[in-house]
Amino acid sequence: MADRVGMWKSLGMDVKAHDALCSMLPTAFGDVFLSQRNRPESMAFWDMVAADIHGMRPAELIEAQANGQKVFGAFCVYVPDEVILACDGIVTGLCGGSQFWVPAGEQMLPADVCPLIKASVGARISRTCPFFRIADLFVGETTCDGKKKAYEILAKDAPLYVMDTPQMKRQKDIDKWADEIRDFADEVQRVTGNQLTSENLAKAIKVTNDRRRALARVFEARKSRVAPISGADALLMMQISFFDDPVRCAEMCNRLADELERRIEQGVSAVPAGSKRILITGTPMAIPNWKLHHIVETCGAVVACEEMCTGTRSFENLVDETQTTLEGQFQALSQRYMKNNCACFTPNGGRIDDVIRLARTYQVDGVINANLTFCTTYKLEAPALERAVEEAGFPVLSIETGYSDGDSEQLRTRIGAFVEMLG
Ligand code: SF4
Ligand code: SF4
Repeated sequence: MADRVGMWKSLGMDVKAHDALCSMLPTAFGDVFLSQRNRPESMAFWDMVAADIHGMRPAELIEAQANGQKVFGAFCVYVPDEVILACDGIVTGLCGGSQFWVPAGEQMLPADVCPLIKASVGARISRTCPFFRIADLFVGETTCDGKKKAYEILAKDAPLYVMDTPQMKRQKDIDKWADEIRDFADEVQRVTGNQLTSENLAKAIKVTNDRRRALARVFEARKSRVAPISGADALLMMQISFFDDPVRCAEMCNRLADELERRIEQGVSAVPAGSKRILITGTPMAIPNWKLHHIVETCGAVVACEEMCTGTRSFENLVDETQTTLEGQFQALSQRYMKNNCACFTPNGGRIDDVIRLARTYQVDGVINANLTFCTTYKLEAPALERAVEEAGFPVLSIETGYSDGDSEQLRTRIGAFVEMLG
C-alpha cells in the first residue's frame, strides 16, 4: 500500500489520534458487513473502498489538486454538484457519521446539538479526517439552525461558502434558489479559475443524472421481494457515492444493478426467507453510521429502502437536460433540487407522500422513522408522519438515536418486538 501515513502527515493530520479511529473501523466493518451471508459479488468494490476509506480517494483528490483541480466539500444534498463539475471541480461529502468525532465537536458546540453536526465539526478540529483537510472550499447551506451556527465556527478554521436555502417551496422560492445557484457559480468560477458555460454545464448535468439513474437502478432491484441485496450493503454503496468520482460511481452501481437483476431472476436472496421488509425514513446516515441497519437486519428483517438523503432523496428527480442557456439550466437545477423534501421546509407534506409511495412500491411490511438526537425539525414532523403512514396501513416505529452504541441493546429490544409484531 502507498505511504498513507506520509500523506496524512502532509495534510497536517493528528496521525496518532487517527490511528485510534482506524483501529475501530475493521471490527465494526467486519461485524456489520463481512458477517453477512450471500452478498452480491460486486460489493467487493465498496468493501475495498471502505477498507482504505482515508487512503484511496484522498490520494486521488490530492493528485487532482496537484494537476490544478479544486476540491469542494459539501454537507447537504442541496449543493448542486453540477456547477462544480462543470468548472472541472471535484465534490466530496463532508458529513461526519462517527461517534469518534463527537467529543471534539462538543468542545466547540453545546452537547444538545445533533451528532451529525458535532461529528462534522469534530472531524475538522481534531484533524482526523483527510477529506476535511483536503477540501479547498467547504460549502454549507442554511437548512437547519444547528448547521447555520456550526458553519460560523467552521469558517474560523476553513474557507467556507454558505448557500441560503429557501424554507418554502413557492415559485418565488424556486426562483430564489436559482439565484443562489447563480451566485454559487460565480464563487466556483473564482475558486477554480474556470469559466462556466452552458456547454460544460450541460455535460455535468448529464454526468450527474447518469449517476442518479445508476443509483435508481440499484434501488429498483430492492423493490423485489427476493431482496437481492441487504440494506446495509445498499447503505454502504450510497454513503460511498458521496465521496466517489460520479462517472466511476455510475459504472460500479450499474454493474451492481446488473448483478442484482440476475439474482432476482434466479431467486437469489441476500437475507433469509420470510425476512420482514422495512422502510427507514428520517435524518441522513453518514459513513460510518451503520448502527440501525445492523440492528434491523439482525432482528429478522431487511431494510428495503431509505427515504432520507442517504437514500432516495439523493437520486430521485432528474435535472432537465434540454436547457441550452445558463439561465434555463439554473432554473432547471433549482426545480430539481427544490423537489427534495427535507424537514427544513414548511410545510413538508411531500415527505409524507414520499414515505407512503415508497412503502407501497418497495412492498414493505413496516416503517421505522429514525431521527438523530436533537434534530428538532425532523422530530417535530414525526407525529404527523406517523399518523399518516399508519392511516395508509403501515405499522410505524419511531426512534431517536445518536451515534454511540450505548442504546444499542434497548433499540434491539424495541426493533425486535416491532419486527415480531409485523409477523
Ligand atoms: S436532511 Fe436536509 S439538511 Fe440534511 S442533507 Fe438532507 S436536505 Fe440537507
Ligand atoms: S440531522 Fe437535523 S439537526 Fe442534524 S444537521 Fe440534519 S437537519 Fe440539522
